[in-house]
Amino acid sequence: MPKYILLMIIAILLFSCSSSIPEFDGEEAFTFLQAQCDLGPRTPGSDEIELCRNYITGELKKYGATVNKQKFTTVINKNEYDGINIIASFYPRMSRRILLGAHYDTRPWADKEKDSNLHNTPIIGANDAASGVAVLLELASIISQKQPPQFGIDLVFFDLEDMGEYGNNESWCLGSSYFAENFTEVKPEKAIIVDMIGDTDLEIDMEYFSYHNSPNLVNEVWDTAKDLGFTEFKSKITNKIYDDHYPLIVHGFNAIDIIDFEYPFWHTLEDTPDKCSPHSLYVVGQTLLNIIYTEK
Ligand SMILES: [Zn+2]
Repeated sequence: MPKYILLMIIAILLFSCSSSIPEFDGEEAFTFLQAQCDLGPRTPGSDEIELCRNYITGELKKYGATVNKQKFTTVINKNEYDGINIIASFYPRMSRRILLGAHYDTRPWADKEKDSNLHNTPIIGANDAASGVAVLLELASIISQKQPPQFGIDLVFFDLEDMGEYGNNESWCLGSSYFAENFTEVKPEKAIIVDMIGDTDLEIDMEYFSYHNSPNLVNEVWDTAKDLGFTEFKSKITNKIYDDHYPLIVHGFNAIDIIDFEYPFWHTLEDTPDKCSPHSLYVVGQTLLNIIYTEK
């Protein structure tokens, strides 16, 4: 075979490989973040969290996902709360699956405010809740329009992540705990949680429990981001964070958390959309798209 034909074939192959991974739209994702914040604080038991459920479910159905609501009841400090995890599946018959998760509830208390008079005021949660949900909804939009990925995709929107008491691990991540405890199907090959990934000043370290449990998956995600030129992903292991990936790890999932925990507005009234950027959503969303559209 003449050399130039071989080169042409290689070029065509390279082009078709790279063009088969869709482009993530950070601007559209940001509209999903803004829409959640426009509802107001989405605290457990509020009308607003119910509106948020309707919003998420409505978007997912628009994109053709099979949507299931997993209802559960839990008791926190003698108060009973009804939680609902929203589970959306694409290509439910594909046996190789990836689970992507984010929590949608927002913290009822701005208890990291300096002024203690504000500690009982609920937060808007632009970064701490809305950002992860926004990335997942944009992925749903893309998957519905493009060719099937290499994996069936389950998007899980967890409830009751953020009502915990500092220092009491059991009081956080109630939706994901219920989900993990009651999971009876074949486990997905990979489970990736996104939380607090909208920060304009995005820096994502490797989270300790994620790396300890699933070093290969952490390396795959961080290497993918590096190949895309996303310097926001840092190759250092920091912080043990009890987030929605933790109950999944406990129940045997290959699960990691993508989280930027260095966020000065965490659990304050300042966690608003102006602290977040479409570009940060893009960096995380595009990395996830490359993971789910690349044959491994
Ligand atoms: Zn939080």
